[in-house]
Amino acid sequence: MARLAPLNRIQGGAVLRVGTRSAADGLRTTGRALAAALFPPRCAACGRPGAALCQPCLATATRLPHPQCRQCTRPLTYGDQCARCRLEQRRIDHLYVPYAYTPPILQAVHRFKYANKRYLAADLATLAMSALPSNLQVDVVIPVPLAASRERQRGYNQGRLLAAEVARHLDCPLDGNVLIRLRDTPPQTSLPRARRLDNVRGAFRALRKLSGTRILLVDDVTTTGATLEAATRALRRRGAAWVGALALARTPEERSDVPPNPSDLLL
Ligand SMILES: [Zn+2]
Ligand SMILES: [Zn+2]
Repeated sequence: MARLAPLNRIQGGAVLRVGTRSAADGLRTTGRALAAALFPPRCAACGRPGAALCQPCLATATRLPHPQCRQCTRPLTYGDQCARCRLEQRRIDHLYVPYAYTPPILQAVHRFKYANKRYLAADLATLAMSALPSNLQVDVVIPVPLAASRERQRGYNQGRLLAAEVARHLDCPLDGNVLIRLRDTPPQTSLPRARRLDNVRGAFRALRKLSGTRILLVDDVTTTGATLEAATRALRRRGAAWVGALALARTPEERSDVPPNPSDLLL
């Protein structure tokens, strides 16, 4: 089964093909292999050279348990959608997250985000993709954009680096231009869950029609999925047929199959 739908389903705008097997791709692969040989990444948890996280440290990482809500990945006892996501009328089709945002994943993400270790993107993307089903079909991979001011400050968008690696693995186009962030928002971690959807509501806009397109959003870490939900709504407004999202890790939080207090919800 082909993973890649015809490009003509993606209407207008520039689509950067990163998955095609070309001489340039071969060179990039060789360049990556050379860089990895000369400057092997070190394990973020124990410092051993070889990978972003060595096998013994990775073995201590906490995988998110199943069964879980398909829209927010929180544990469930039955069904595939938790009460909160149902009440919030979430539009995201599927959120894929393999790990809890706790050590050693937390250390690896911190090095990637704040210590300018861009080369960790390949290893972290591989870890993130362990949450994807093997038969997933998407037309385009889209990174969750940072606000322009935040990206200038950091010098790069770590979500975009991860998304590029994911697109390469899926042999699928990457489009880093279609989705824009209209305003910066306070960090989600500083807000209670009930305020997070409101915090990011209307923060994104898709710049062209996406009729019939199956989209995979990529970000590094998610908390409640509120940012991914806001991005999903922007893509849906332009006709996206299916929107899934992939993140490497999710911050630990309360169980969500407990019926929420209605006064906590923004309906
Ligand atoms: Zn280690
Ligand atoms: Zn849920």
